[in-house]
Amino acid sequence: MVRDPRYDILFEPVKIGPVTAKNRFYQVPHCTGSGSQRPRTLAGLREVKAEGGWAVVNTEYCSVHPACDDTPYPSATLWDKGDIKGHALMTEKVHAHGALAGVELCLGGARMPNLATREVAMGVTSMPNLAGNPFQTRAMDLADIREARRWHRNAALRAREAGFDIAYVYATHGYLLAHFLSARHNQRTDAYGGSAQNRVRLIAEIIEDTKEAVGDTMAVAVRFSAETNGGGGGDGTPVHGETLEMFEILAELPDLWDINVADYSLEMGVSRFVPEGALEPYIACIKSLTSKPVVSVGRFTSPDTMASQIRRGIVDFIGAARPSIADPFLPQKIEEGRLEDIRECIGCNICYTGDGKGVPIRCTQNPTMSEEWRRGWHPEHVPVKGSQSRVLVVGAGPAGLEAAHVLGKRGYDVMLAEATRELGGRVIREAALPGLNEWIRVRDYRMQQIAKMPNVEIFRESELDAEDVLGVGADHVAIATGSHWRRDGFGPSNLTGIEGLGGREQVLTPDDIMAGQRPNGPTVIFDDDHYYMATVLAELLRTEDIPVTIVTTADSIAEWSGYTVEHSRTLSRLMEMGVDLVTAHNVQTFDGGAATLTCVYSGRQTRVEAAAFVPVTARTPQDSLFRDLETMISEGRKGAPKTVKRIGDCEAPAIIAAAVYSGHRYARELDATIDRDNPLKHDRVFFEDA
Ligand code: ADP
Ligand code: SF4
Repeated sequence: MVRDPRYDILFEPVKIGPVTAKNRFYQVPHCTGSGSQRPRTLAGLREVKAEGGWAVVNTEYCSVHPACDDTPYPSATLWDKGDIKGHALMTEKVHAHGALAGVELCLGGARMPNLATREVAMGVTSMPNLAGNPFQTRAMDLADIREARRWHRNAALRAREAGFDIAYVYATHGYLLAHFLSARHNQRTDAYGGSAQNRVRLIAEIIEDTKEAVGDTMAVAVRFSAETNGGGGGDGTPVHGETLEMFEILAELPDLWDINVADYSLEMGVSRFVPEGALEPYIACIKSLTSKPVVSVGRFTSPDTMASQIRRGIVDFIGAARPSIADPFLPQKIEEGRLEDIRECIGCNICYTGDGKGVPIRCTQNPTMSEEWRRGWHPEHVPVKGSQSRVLVVGAGPAGLEAAHVLGKRGYDVMLAEATRELGGRVIREAALPGLNEWIRVRDYRMQQIAKMPNVEIFRESELDAEDVLGVGADHVAIATGSHWRRDGFGPSNLTGIEGLGGREQVLTPDDIMAGQRPNGPTVIFDDDHYYMATVLAELLRTEDIPVTIVTTADSIAEWSGYTVEHSRTLSRLMEMGVDLVTAHNVQTFDGGAATLTCVYSGRQTRVEAAAFVPVTARTPQDSLFRDLETMISEGRKGAPKTVKRIGDCEAPAIIAAAVYSGHRYARELDATIDRDNPLKHDRVFFEDA
């Protein structure tokens, strides 16, 4: 297949100072949860992007000095020669595929507490740490400013030695340079504070320093926020006021502008709250203010939208973090006219949880993310089948669909049996909830792939029991029958359940509500799950005018959604919709007319009148088929499969990303020899210090 000429514009080379990008696909800096801790994992992850056609592949934020230490969040570092070797692993691999490698040099400021290095953090002024630690920064004096410039310059020199082609000056996201720009944070009275002219001074100096140090061979990029709300988040207006004034002063200094809006919940907002292309109103005028190329992001997955962004003069490069995570081969697929093969990002932000948790990032749509090096998983290639076996997959939720898809790709004869008419399992139900419609892409991608495979046969409306499975005569059986939400309140806070729930018709589970049942009056939703389910159900019931109270044992509603940067927007939405919120309370009983709550700290009891109760607490794996088959195998029943394995929520209920991963892993590892004691390569730093 060949590419559609409408997309030719996306494949034009673009000059960035002394270097040239081969096309307009630009992977902006993004966290990987690996940073300097896992250099091989990181190099493997970045390499597949270069291989997949991205012309520029950047690191995550890269600390220039031990006084900029964001531990436990895993940043990259360029502190010494050892770090140079770590980064060189990446730049070599990126160059091998004809792409440019960029590094996002970062000065910390009041966002970084230096917990690991115990250096005193420096700030534009002495201010509390903005990540919630009880530490303040030292107000930078002129000697500190000179030091910061020297650190940045030295890191740029190391970056060149590591083979990078682009060095960033990182002036957004609340790190040090952003605070110099911000009128709210910068209360200095010297030449670096006060007027807009003064507040850009340090950035201008660092741009000049970087150009002077490495600018003959490396491009200098500036990451800058077009937000004009004084650091208070996007206000929906094009860049104006002092932000505009500052941009105009700097406009021609760097070789490239990477424009964002510093509010993460907008810039990388979840699809539940933020649509594709949401930054356009802020950045549309930027190109008219500079002759330098401009890149920005917008969770772009449609090549038509991308081409339109270029044609309309919004940007020169299509910036992407998440779309490049969900599909590292997105550019190549557009180039080859294989649009139906694109694994579109669903905007769930599970990838971002890796940074908050300090672990390698994972992706709902792309189960190979971070597994490229340590498990040898390529996002596009799988090993050919290891035998002539016939494989039966029971259940077509995300786990079963992914297993059938990858087994089919390996060349096995696959039968996929699904109890209902529709394929997709929980994804169909959840994508119908408020704001989650993009999640259906998890099903759509896999169904599109399976549809092309003559060796995968689908059996709908086929609810199988163990005897049925034996009748099929498959060699291997994967049980992907999912889970259901519990009705008894069992959960982390109530391991023996909640009194009064059993058998009461006013108790509705999330499955009941997703199946169309509705409470008959004011409803208490008890959230002992702490992610999205309780809050989307609350939203759904409020749109139908049902009064809702969410009760949670945690100190905040939907606490875990902080890791996906949707917490603040979730709470704003619930408050706007008039949902009553009760934190730090457990549920003692529900008697059909009221729920009795207990404060988790004082033990004090209160009652909330409620006609219905929805426990969002835990799920039960639907694994009876698995257990029956295990018994049959152990009894040596004639016709029993050689192996049976439970995958996805049937094995252990979790997020959709885990179900996809589980299906993928099953399919990859069938007939493979895996060292069970050492299933993955152990990444660690062993580069000697300078
Ligand atoms: P996961 O997230 O692990 O993929 P889901 O709950 O999304 O799990 O999907 C499980 C799927 O399995 C559902 O579509 C359900 O209809 C199907 N299923 C459950 N039991 C059977 C069975 N005995 N035979 C065939 N399909 C089944
Ligand atoms: Fe997109 Fe979700 Fe994958 Fe992140 S985890 S890249 S948001 S699909």
